[in-house]
Amino acid sequence: MRKLAENKIVLASHNQGKLSEIQVLLQPFGISCVSAGELGIDEPDETESTFSGNARIKAHHASMASGLPALSDDSGISVDALDGAPGVYTADWAETAGGRDFNLAMKAVWEKLEERHVPSPRLAQFNCTLCLAWPDGHDEVFSGIASGQVVWPMRGQHGFGFDPMFQPDGYTKTFAEMHPEEKNPLTHRADAFAKLVAGCLG
Ligand code: IMP
Repeated sequence: MRKLAENKIVLASHNQGKLSEIQVLLQPFGISCVSAGELGIDEPDETESTFSGNARIKAHHASMASGLPALSDDSGISVDALDGAPGVYTADWAETAGGRDFNLAMKAVWEKLEERHVPSPRLAQFNCTLCLAWPDGHDEVFSGIASGQVVWPMRGQHGFGFDPMFQPDGYTKTFAEMHPEEKNPLTHRADAFAKLVAGCLG
């Protein structure tokens, strides 16, 4: 396992929600970070069918383009009764001609559950794979999970993506009803990040 010796990295994401959460996670380690967008690095096509495959594409792309180590996040929500959908394709479910619309994507998930007459609790997990890649082509990959259920109607104004319909195990609030300080430690991202800390930052 390679340790991160550098004190500056690129965050290989253009998603503001992910960027904010990862910046908070990195803060205690004194690692300065710049986003791929700030460096003018574009988003590569996510052509793999796994979280780790797509995380590796994004981290290597940003690392090669910047000459710095790069940290990427590939994530999504998998609903048990939908055979794991939308999963790796979570962001794709939100695509419209006018940009991404997550309210539409959440509604589509709920309608599919209704079509299948799935009883409560509609179990689901958020998955996150983080990839730390170096300009010489080396990488380290870590995965995390947040378990819970999807609920309807959507509730809450905080967070991003599918947060308004995801209620983590042990809580009666959705992620979107929680302030960042409450949500952040519970996430699939924090779970994967703890493994990255143990492997590369310890
Ligand atoms: P991708 O990793 O760029 O393929 O996008 C993953 C998608 O999953 C995001 O656009 C969000 O909609 C969703 N997602 C990932 N993590 C979270 C989270 O913590 N809260 C809500 N939605 C999330």
